[in-house]
Amino acid sequence: MPHVWPTVVHMLDDAARRAPQHTALVCGAEQFNYRQYAACVAGLAAELRQAGLGAGERVVVFMANSPDVAIAIFGVQAAGAQVVPMNSAYTASELKQVLENADARGIIYDEAASAVVNEVASGFALRYCIGSGPGAQRLVRWAGQPELADALPLPSPSEPAILQYTGGTTGVPKGVSLLHAAVSANISQREALVPTRAGQERVLAITPLFHSYSMAMGLYLAVYARSTLVILPRYRPDTVLEAIARERITLMLGSPTIFTGLMGFEGFAQADLNSLRLCASGSAALPEETLRRWEAATGCAVCEGYGQTEAGPVIAFNPLNGVRKSGTVGVPAPETEVQIVDVHDGDKVLPQGEVGEIRVRGPQLMTGYYGRPQETADALRGGWLYTGDIGQLDEEGYLTICDRKKEMAIVSGYNVYPREVEEALFRHPGVREAAVIGVPDDYRGEVLVAHVVADAGVTQETLAGFLAERLVKYKWPSVIHLVDSLPRTGVGKIDKKVLRAMAGKG
Ligand code: ATP
Repeated sequence: MPHVWPTVVHMLDDAARRAPQHTALVCGAEQFNYRQYAACVAGLAAELRQAGLGAGERVVVFMANSPDVAIAIFGVQAAGAQVVPMNSAYTASELKQVLENADARGIIYDEAASAVVNEVASGFALRYCIGSGPGAQRLVRWAGQPELADALPLPSPSEPAILQYTGGTTGVPKGVSLLHAAVSANISQREALVPTRAGQERVLAITPLFHSYSMAMGLYLAVYARSTLVILPRYRPDTVLEAIARERITLMLGSPTIFTGLMGFEGFAQADLNSLRLCASGSAALPEETLRRWEAATGCAVCEGYGQTEAGPVIAFNPLNGVRKSGTVGVPAPETEVQIVDVHDGDKVLPQGEVGEIRVRGPQLMTGYYGRPQETADALRGGWLYTGDIGQLDEEGYLTICDRKKEMAIVSGYNVYPREVEEALFRHPGVREAAVIGVPDDYRGEVLVAHVVADAGVTQETLAGFLAERLVKYKWPSVIHLVDSLPRTGVGKIDKKVLRAMAGKG
């Protein structure tokens, strides 16, 4: 396995010593080199420790994408505390729910979040408002004191590093607690399958840095490679395409929504994307058709991976320098065991080729859900993480995700994975986005309902006929709704909870 750092702060410290002048962070007109980056992290760590926020404490980071988020995440960890990155789009009630669970004594937030924070947050030993208005400060303010980097405090690998809340796609967000040793192991595991070139990458972070995917594939990947992280404050197709061309981006972390959005943008055909060497796709299933169209249009390889916050997050990846199989999420990372077990009997390992629940064992697993012993006992059994995802391993060890266990519908007694129907819809050239859910039905138990964003001229009848030629009858949706857009979660995944609620209302 590639080198495993004791903690991510050791990794930053090393980058600051070996490549002090190399540009580490770019955001709009702002740029910071590794020495400045480490100095800011050290400056914040000292302030946190002064406020008593060191080992054993938790500090929330509640901010939209900016250089300050990167500094905040490393700074809390350098202080020895556990960082709690939180979705910056949370409303006051969502923030309250998570804060009650996280038991944190410090919060770092940006001015845009002030109103929400003021509404719910009290009793903090430290509140740090980031911005330029009254009472606010920037964490980049220590960049002018590069000598601070010489005294960057280094935490212990056995301490908790991150308390990361899951996206809440399937229920309430749960706080996943990861030790430094797990986070560092996972960075090396990712590196083994998606290797970077030291000092040469220019990584574009489009998705929010508070999410486990962007942290692994953006924030930490860039520091491991002693390379440059280009941060976009928010996703807009035009600014993404401009940034790729202007910043000569080599590695872009994307998601199915991002690839679809960019390809649907009118300026896409003219965009200069020739600096791209690699695009990673994760967080949700990448339709094969989207992958094929993106690779054909850009000539850039897409490596689809699979992860879960609970697993550090990387579990498997299509190897950059090996065989990439579209429709699969690649092979398990080194030192990661993946097994397919019976959906009803988690101890029964199924033979290769059969479909069942994915369970995972490896050094990157969480220690548990913070303050939720029952959920922890359900997810971690006998050293295995039960992912709640349904999948299949092929004869070469490549993993395919069929769907989430919770998404599976039982139609007239048959198990149906909505994702298979979505894939079939995506093969129609006029389909832009599709989401299929199972809803209760008196006669069949459950039936499928499809929501499709399609080009003008595509009708429900066309799509029904298209599916009828490709799928057995029990997989046909009983209703196909043509819609303008699909509801999304804070990290851009299609929010099937909202679709189900709409279906419930009739
Ligand atoms: P919650 O766990 O609270 O419902 P969430 O799903 O958003 O929220 P994450 O840890 O962010 O939590 O997402 C992990 C899940 O995303 C995986 O369990 C899997 O279902 C899905 N996923 C990730 N990558 C892929 C992929 N390449 N293909 C299909 N699904 C994927």
